[in-house]
Amino acid sequence: MTEMAYDPDNIFAKILRGEISCNKVYEDDYALAFPDINPQAPTHVLIIPKGAYVSQDDFSENASDAEIAGFWRAVGSVARQLGVADSGYRFLANTGPDAHQEVMHFHVHLFAGRKLGPMLA
Ligand code: AMP
Repeated sequence: MTEMAYDPDNIFAKILRGEISCNKVYEDDYALAFPDINPQAPTHVLIIPKGAYVSQDDFSENASDAEIAGFWRAVGSVARQLGVADSGYRFLANTGPDAHQEVMHFHVHLFAGRKLGPMLA
């Protein structure tokens, strides 16, 4: 993917800086998690890295090994903390135009709390 510049005024950057509030579900050195404002499942949480990465493409190419390991460990921790690790969950990272990525700070959606249906609509 052609790399686009990170916009420090995107909404998740503002949440990370505390300029916009969120109901924090989880936070550590590498990640912050909070409920999606427009939930698509009984549990719908967004997990974002603390670093400034536009997308999964940018993150996987440019983040340090520590950031990548820390972030993906956080995704698992969030699921366990939410109590959905046993019942099951789905995570999804919209990346670029075909996936309709709207917020240009890498984020993982975590869905749970019901049968989640087919993989793609
Ligand atoms: P996408 O970039 O398409 O993967 O999705 C962006 C997601 O961010 C959407 O599901 C929105 O509902 C969600 N969203 C946008 N603004 C906020 C916010 N202030 N707090 C929580 N979720 C948000």
